[in-house]
Amino acid sequence: MKPEFLEDLPPKKLCKFILKLSYNIAQKTKEIPVVAVVCSLSYNKPNGLFFKNQHYWKVESISTNLVKKYNNPIYHAEFLAFQKLKRKSKELYLSDKILITNLEPCLLCTSLSISYRVEKIFYFLKRNKGFSARDIVNLSHKRKQSSKKKILNHHPKIVYLKEYSKIQRSIIKNFFRKLRNFSKSD
Ligand SMILES: [Zn+2]
Repeated sequence: MKPEFLEDLPPKKLCKFILKLSYNIAQKTKEIPVVAVVCSLSYNKPNGLFFKNQHYWKVESISTNLVKKYNNPIYHAEFLAFQKLKRKSKELYLSDKILITNLEPCLLCTSLSISYRVEKIFYFLKRNKGFSARDIVNLSHKRKQSSKKKILNHHPKIVYLKEYSKIQRSIIKNFFRKLRNFSKSD
């Protein structure tokens, strides 16, 4: 039986793990500290890394943002996490998979989540620049209501995990402050 996705929130331990990883990247590197974790849910205890809530949240892949490291503007955490998982998955889509990320996905990563038919996206901090995951999915919903025509053929459910936003905002703020100080001293 397929587990019920809707009411189960990501385990606190998993979210704290993402926050800690984001903090470490912010401290040690010049990459924007974005972390993406792709999970699947299971009733039975899976192998590998998992966190337990109502279900077992199995970590299928993890990536961080590596734009600077590879000098490539599309090496976002979500893109890399999807690629990692696709390399080992025989399925065409990532249906039933859940993306958890500390920053609301950008236009590129939202589009990828839609193309891969990701079930749900959880994020900690709202994006205030450029198109966001919410903008794209809401636009498609509105269009569907008014003209009965869908823009998107798949609508991932997007959930803002507000309880982590304050700490995530301070990690990002401190990171950009550090970056500005670096560039001043160059
Ligand atoms: Zn992105």
